[in-house]
Amino acid sequence: MKKVNFLIIGGSAAGTTAADAIRNLLPEASIAIVTDEDHEQYSRVLLPNYIRHQITREQMFLKKPEWYSERKIELIRGVKAVGLASKSKRVKVSDGNEIEYGKLLICVGGYVVPLNVPGADAEGVFYMRTVEDGDEIIEKSKDAKKAVIIGGGFVGLEFSSCFKMNGIEEVTTLVRGDYYWSKKLDEESSKVVVSTLSKNGVSVKTDEDADHIETKDGKVKAVVTKSGNRYEADVIGVGIGIKSDFSWLADSGIEIKAGIDTNEYLETNLPDVYAAGDCAEFYDPVFERKHLVGNWTNATSQGSTVGKTMAHSASSGQAGQRTKFETASSYSINFFSPPENGTCSFIGVTDEDFADKILVRGSFNEGKVTKILIKKYNGISRIVGATVVNHPPDVGPITMAVKNRVDIASKLLDLEKPDFDLKLLVA
Ligand SMILES: Cc1cc2nc3c(=O)[nH]c(=O)nc-3n(C[C@H](O)[C@H](O)[C@H](O)COP(=O)(O)OP(=O)(O)OC[C@H]3O[C@@H](n4cnc5c(N)ncnc54)[C@H](O)[C@@H]3O)c2cc1C
Repeated sequence: MKKVNFLIIGGSAAGTTAADAIRNLLPEASIAIVTDEDHEQYSRVLLPNYIRHQITREQMFLKKPEWYSERKIELIRGVKAVGLASKSKRVKVSDGNEIEYGKLLICVGGYVVPLNVPGADAEGVFYMRTVEDGDEIIEKSKDAKKAVIIGGGFVGLEFSSCFKMNGIEEVTTLVRGDYYWSKKLDEESSKVVVSTLSKNGVSVKTDEDADHIETKDGKVKAVVTKSGNRYEADVIGVGIGIKSDFSWLADSGIEIKAGIDTNEYLETNLPDVYAAGDCAEFYDPVFERKHLVGNWTNATSQGSTVGKTMAHSASSGQAGQRTKFETASSYSINFFSPPENGTCSFIGVTDEDFADKILVRGSFNEGKVTKILIKKYNGISRIVGATVVNHPPDVGPITMAVKNRVDIASKLLDLEKPDFDLKLLVA
């Protein structure tokens, strides 16, 4: 049976960064990464750029095979972890083998939520998560004239420009809510995004829920919605969320809530077992709550932090240090090209329920909206998050204010003034 000091399940943002951090601290330790994808690490963030033909397929790959051999990190590709025996410290993998670990890191991210309506398995229904998804979208979009996107969120937005930039003339997005991206944006911000989509030839239909997909000879033909409307489609892009597969952990005793439950050190309830990235529901000291965060910066920052903690061993005096994860992350999406392009940034916590006060700067008429979420902590007023649509200069100062937990009580009135310079928040 294979035995390693450090076993990592999932070889993407969190897993690869953690392996690198451990190697930096422990030159002789044995490290293995198990991934069910048949690739070295690549960037999901760059996947839409590849589909839009802005970069080559090769440029998506962040690590070459030599990186793993030089760093003495064993990459076990195309193999899935299928069971965890935490008492004997073994992981069972899909090729029938077992791997014994000293410490185990779980960073399995998520898989796309499949569309569950009749016809959804027809040719021409796409998701956007893997290299193979990208290859298929490019190949099958070649002769397409009409596209329908199901889901008005982050991936739906990426599908819009990907379809357009693959030459598809008519692109229609169907969203369940009463306005576009209602789970993340306020209505005013949403209107700004929809206006950019419209200027780029993408139409949005609200209150539309897919009922079934009409097919012909196994290929998609149209999406029919519950309201009875029919939208013709040669291709369909689905972006309705991701979900982690924790079924292999069922008998392990690990605590799972919305994600794998961890403390601020990304330690789970099981000894020597850690979790990081999209699949970890971690205690966040910045916001004093547990939550899941699904973005690349969060995943890589957690990977490098948990690597330090894993490399640490009080008994053997190993290198590394038990390190708290305390970074507020943000991410931005740029869609379409100038002059009719748009940007959308999400900083810190963006769920409105979490905030005590919400301030909106800008408006649809101005073509930019920044929504700022404020919460009181023991008498201190802090910005805990924001969504910034079409106004990139706001992103830096707000991110700093969130990360540095700045008390903004004295600036609350100023913040409502449209000409208040946000840089003064952190001056
Ligand atoms: C199209 C797209 C665009 C994006 N753009 C942005 C962006 O602009 N900015 C941003 O911040 N974020 C972006 N994201 C989100 C970002 O990519 C994720 O937050 C990040 O990849 C999470 O990294 P992770 O390591 O936690 O998990 P993942 O990247 O999901 O990787 C987990 C890996 O584990 C594998 N795995 C799962 N189960 C097992 C198992 N049992 N055994 C073995 N392997 C397993 C999976 O196949 C996968 O390879 C984007 C995502 C997508 C899909």
